[in-house]
Amino acid sequence: MASRDWAAPNLPSARPNGAEALRPKEFEPRLQKELSRLDPSVPFNPEVRYLHHTWAQTFFSRPEFFFQPSTIPELQKIVTLGRRLGKRLCVTGFGHSPSDLSLTSQWLINLDNLSRILEWDVGGQPGLVRFEAGRSLGGLNAALAEKGYTLPNLGSIDVQSIAGAISTGTHGSSLKHGLLSNSITSLKILLSNSEVVDCSAEKNTQLFKAALLSLGSLGIIVELTLQAVPDFNIKWSQSLWPLEHILNTWDSDLWTQQEYTRVWWLPYLSRAVVWRGGRTSAPVRQPKRTFYGGIVGFTLYHNLLYLAQYIPSTLPWIEWLIFGMQYGFKPGTYELAAVQPAREALLMDCLYSQFVDEWALPLSRGPEAIRRLGAWIHGDEATARIPFPSSGVWVHCPIEVRVSDNSTAKTNNPSGVRPYLDPTVDNGPTLYLNATLYRPYGRDPPCRDRYYQAFEWLMRELGGRPHWAKNFTHVSRTEIEAMYGSDMAEFVRIRDEADPQGLFVGEWHHRNLPVSNAVGFEAEAAVRKMGSGGDGLLWTGRSRRRQQTIQLETAMGAVDKKGDRDDSGDDGQRLPSPPLTSTSEESFDYMAKGEASVYSDLH
Ligand SMILES: Cc1cc2nc3c(=O)[nH]c(=O)nc-3n(C[C@H](O)[C@H](O)[C@H](O)COP(=O)(O)OP(=O)(O)OC[C@H]3O[C@@H](n4cnc5c(N)ncnc54)[C@H](O)[C@@H]3O)c2cc1C
Repeated sequence: MASRDWAAPNLPSARPNGAEALRPKEFEPRLQKELSRLDPSVPFNPEVRYLHHTWAQTFFSRPEFFFQPSTIPELQKIVTLGRRLGKRLCVTGFGHSPSDLSLTSQWLINLDNLSRILEWDVGGQPGLVRFEAGRSLGGLNAALAEKGYTLPNLGSIDVQSIAGAISTGTHGSSLKHGLLSNSITSLKILLSNSEVVDCSAEKNTQLFKAALLSLGSLGIIVELTLQAVPDFNIKWSQSLWPLEHILNTWDSDLWTQQEYTRVWWLPYLSRAVVWRGGRTSAPVRQPKRTFYGGIVGFTLYHNLLYLAQYIPSTLPWIEWLIFGMQYGFKPGTYELAAVQPAREALLMDCLYSQFVDEWALPLSRGPEAIRRLGAWIHGDEATARIPFPSSGVWVHCPIEVRVSDNSTAKTNNPSGVRPYLDPTVDNGPTLYLNATLYRPYGRDPPCRDRYYQAFEWLMRELGGRPHWAKNFTHVSRTEIEAMYGSDMAEFVRIRDEADPQGLFVGEWHHRNLPVSNAVGFEAEAAVRKMGSGGDGLLWTGRSRRRQQTIQLETAMGAVDKKGDRDDSGDDGQRLPSPPLTSTSEESFDYMAKGEASVYSDLH
């Protein structure tokens, strides 16, 4: 029985999941037939009626089957059967990607049961740890702490699976660090022909570059090796500043005074909260409880946001009241400070269900971006120069302002490998601007469309690229293709080679990446209100199976005629070598060729 319910703190857990195991005799005949060709000692345990959803409960889907395998052979069996039956395979970590990226109506796979630590100090290298890919960032950090190590960088939360986090380019906020995936030195990925392939900066480098940020479209990452750093504490403080101070110190020491810095911009007040933290040997001193960290502040803010759904013009006043109660009504009157282990200090409370539209752009464009967006929010369209009217649009705060540096010129990337789909700037520091809109009681805010249209237009004009996991909506796949140029072409080439049928390609990928329309088993999606009290959408992918099935059956018919009924085999091929042993460069070549021959059988 699946037990993976979570939700943003202002929402009830999704209704009881109702997932249950399906008995083998209930399997459809084609599945029974295919299953009979495979090793019966390897379990195959699909669950049905599983309700999957994003953390913010913005999107829900009901996969046909939900799997939580606990061994690699189980996972290989799922991939083999999925390929033979023409199913889309989607892996999810914790469903914390705000968009519909992790949704499917077909086969959903989760690796919570594949999360063991496999090896410490790999090859004698202190802090180099090898583990199964379903492990969460927090779960890894807890184990590292016992050995005196920690992750060098984190985003706002640590519940995500590490494979999920790297697969969308998750980042924190520091010019001394890049994407979280920088700490990964090698990985193993299960590709569409059920082969597990090793890759790193030295081995299958192109596959590594693709797998470090693959949006789940390349295969299933099953194992990761990560370089941790010696455990350390962070001494941090946060306080309120006039926005002009932020802009005036932007190019001097705003981002460099301390190792970690993040800014929350309050657009109506023209102020910002600055959080800064640096390494210290001081002992832990936990922060005091804050106003909206407590039940009164949390509930008051939530209900005021709900009121603003009906009277949006109250939002500037709400910003003044809530942030005044939290940080003082004048800059300089309040400071919150603490010393915490890095694994706690870098996290923050993500208060309510929310939409997030976050873009990466050159750090140097930051002041212009903030001035123009601020002007637009204040109705000064001449200064904003954004071709969408702002009248009647009221936004939520804060707008998150963060940084990272993943440029190849920096030494903060031990493997030296930059993912093809890395959205950060490749020759300098990156600014991340994140337009957050809360969803009080699960209700969508009224101004989202125009606000995000204007915001995304400005981000594009300033050379930005969207954070892959987030709720960008006003950018076409052609525009995304142009933003990445030859890097995107390379990614798609490698993806197609590793997964020619498109098992791992879903509707989100077709909508946003230049993958061929000929691949994939799930096409366009239908969405309708979930009808559970909030505005969450039930996402239903439409199967493209009929056409694909004919092709598959033709190919399998040819196999059957040859009498090639293999207990452990696969589409007329021998099963790949035992799991986790096929680790050479040649194995990937072999696999790619093998898959290509299956592919050509089908076309
Ligand atoms: C409250 C909150 C705070 C957040 N804070 C930040 C932040 O500070 N910085 C930031 O950059 N992002 C942030 N995010 C976004 C989040 O880090 C990413 O969306 C991350 O990808 C979620 O990880 P997940 O384990 O939930 O993966 P999912 O959302 O379930 O999946 C994400 C993608 O990874 C793929 N995937 C998952 N597992 C595997 C695997 N084993 N092999 C191959 N592909 C796989 C999926 O198919 C999918 O394409 C935040 C999200 C939330 C909800």
